[in-house]
Amino acid sequence: MTDLAKQTRTDLARDFQLWTTSVAKHTRADDGTEKLLLDLADGGQIECVLLRDDVRRTICISTQVGCAMGCVFCASGLDGLARNLTTGEIVEQMLRLARLLEPEERLSHVVVMGMGEPLANLDALLPALAEVTDPTGLGISGRRVTISTVGLPAAMRRLAEHGAQYRLAVSLHAPDDQLRNQIVPTAKKITLAAILHEANRYFEISGRRLTFEYVLLAGVNDSPEQASRLAQLLRGRLALVNVIPYNQVAGLPYRTPNVAVQRRFRDILVDAGIEVKIRHRKGSKIDAACGQLRRQAAQVGSSGTSPS
Ligand code: SAH
Repeated sequence: MTDLAKQTRTDLARDFQLWTTSVAKHTRADDGTEKLLLDLADGGQIECVLLRDDVRRTICISTQVGCAMGCVFCASGLDGLARNLTTGEIVEQMLRLARLLEPEERLSHVVVMGMGEPLANLDALLPALAEVTDPTGLGISGRRVTISTVGLPAAMRRLAEHGAQYRLAVSLHAPDDQLRNQIVPTAKKITLAAILHEANRYFEISGRRLTFEYVLLAGVNDSPEQASRLAQLLRGRLALVNVIPYNQVAGLPYRTPNVAVQRRFRDILVDAGIEVKIRHRKGSKIDAACGQLRRQAAQVGSSGTSPS
């Protein structure tokens, strides 16, 4: 910007930064999935992912460093919550991922399913999503943005009243409170009934079909009986259930059910009139799931050994 006075340029360089994050690691899987591990200015690290599926180009972004929800099977919360991301840090993930696209590719979807609990950081997330949907920003319709939540009823209500068209995905993982309390510790204070009540409200206000997520953990929540109870719980709702076969995390005792068990679970829901998708893994070779890359980097950093 040579048309600015030299002193002004010096001041700008000193006081402002275009990027606050830097790329610590960039990996690409055979299926086209790309993952970025980003260093934050204060030394924290976050992950974000670009997924390629036919013509779809979906980016998956994080909202917190770590997570306070403590779901027992998830890598992101193993070390608790460090802090919320700022609006800028959320926007930067999207801009960095958008830059990975080839000229002929178009970003089509945004999913807020990276590290952290998005509804615990709505103050920073909502302005970031406003940039996504702004025609002078990324220009993506709010209808192509999905926010995934562990199910925080007060924040679900706030999001409904915010009036945006975002799709809400609610992580259930169990058909009853007793089991859910064991695998989703935040559930101890929050019942499935309270979550479903707010989910219904979100549907009424937004008109958007709800998505429910259900991570299948072998021998924990994958029995036919549990599938029937889940069907019972969701009966009468316009809903899609995303069944997510567990993506194994090193050091955790949970296992992925085999394909026959996954199908049996799905078929019971389908027979009860519920729409189901089994969400197949993408980019698993590059640990493109849920805080695994950051964890691996942290372990390498602390132990000095290389990842296997
Ligand atoms: N905090 C949000 C976003 C989490 S990531 C939420 O709870 O919904 C999106 C989904 O991936 C959630 O349903 C989460 O429970 C699930 N998930 C986390 N770790 C996983 C793993 N190792 N394998 C499969 N799904 C996982």
